[in-house]
Amino acid sequence: MKVLVINSGSSSIKYQLFDMLDKSVLAAGLLEQVGEAASRLTHHFRDVHGAMLKTVKTQPVENHQAGFELMATVLKESGTLGESAELYGIGHRVVHGGEKYHEPTRINPEVIETIRQLIPLAPLHNPPNLLGIEVALAAAPQVPQVAVFDTAFHQSIPPWAFHYALPQHLYEEHHVRRYGFHGTSHGYVAKQAALHLNSPLESLNLITLHLGNGASVTAIENGRSIDTSMGLTPLEGLIMGTRSGDIDPAIIFYLGSQAGYAADEVESLLNKQSGLKGICGVNDMREISRLANKGNETAKLAIDMYCYRIKKYIGAYYAALGRVDALVFTGGIGENAADIRSRCCAGLSRLAIEVDENKNGRQTRGIFEIQSPKTPIKVLVIPTNEELEIAEQTVERIQINTLL
Ligand code: ADP
Repeated sequence: MKVLVINSGSSSIKYQLFDMLDKSVLAAGLLEQVGEAASRLTHHFRDVHGAMLKTVKTQPVENHQAGFELMATVLKESGTLGESAELYGIGHRVVHGGEKYHEPTRINPEVIETIRQLIPLAPLHNPPNLLGIEVALAAAPQVPQVAVFDTAFHQSIPPWAFHYALPQHLYEEHHVRRYGFHGTSHGYVAKQAALHLNSPLESLNLITLHLGNGASVTAIENGRSIDTSMGLTPLEGLIMGTRSGDIDPAIIFYLGSQAGYAADEVESLLNKQSGLKGICGVNDMREISRLANKGNETAKLAIDMYCYRIKKYIGAYYAALGRVDALVFTGGIGENAADIRSRCCAGLSRLAIEVDENKNGRQTRGIFEIQSPKTPIKVLVIPTNEELEIAEQTVERIQINTLL
């Protein structure tokens, strides 16, 4: 049972081909710099003996259409997918599903039109997502295709948490509200936490911290998202690689009136030049840790600020939930940076959150627990796998639709 997962960005196409019988990865690839003179495709695939091999192709790829054709060619050449008819389904990552989509949805012309109408809310993401869907539908019209939305998991957030304190007509006419993102990742690690703890997800209260280049934290009550740090856009909340996260909104007007910034310059500043990069000039946490260990003051400040912001959110979501069963770290930083995990939880033992430094330092593959034996709240490190979650949701959705 082969399922192809596609994440189509503005200048890149990521894909993974799964065998859903054993959930193994048959092939995975990244095509970068679509539309530029030297596009580069890195393709990993499993050969007949089960070994993972890699091929790299550097050639001009004019557009997404050509990109998908190249993907189909390498899948065929590597013997992982002869033709599209072998596919049980295709799952597409779609960033914004607005208020309409609470769950993965089988793609049809109406769904395509809705994703198009949502472009103003995600102008950088929904257009390339849509392009991926259109090209895949044209190439494989007989294969069921499913849209899996980053926002869907957060549609359970109640009104008092999703509204901004702005005039109501802005919500009614312009859809200004908190949507939240990274939903596929938060939902996936929540399910994994439930399996690991051997408790039904519906009875678990969790705080999930997705700390990658983008970063967000979600409060999960009885298995459902009740609040999350990203808002109308992925700019709000935690400090990220290049995004500021929460700031006083008046800074924007101040930059306009006092520092001569135009609106689009402020937007770019907050999204691309701020966050860790703005504080210390570097956005890669490994490099920042290295600099901080060598005594670099701005790198140390960046880590202090990063962890402090996370800790504030842990406190806020603890209060929102009232009872927390587990704290979950995921994403490149959450899964690998033991010192960051430790700093985010430092001083929280009165809240029954305490990290055992031995366990925390013993980095293992897969899921591991790092809480101190004295404390009831579990602190878990759970590798995220958004692609597998999209593949699973794709299968589930196709099976439900078949039964209907
Ligand atoms: P994305 O959001 O693009 O998927 P990732 O989840 O891969 O990103 O996270 C990227 C971040 O994870 C980078 O800041 C990187 O430095 C950090 N990271 C990866 N491995 C480590 C590590 N061993 N220690 C500290 N940070 C790490």
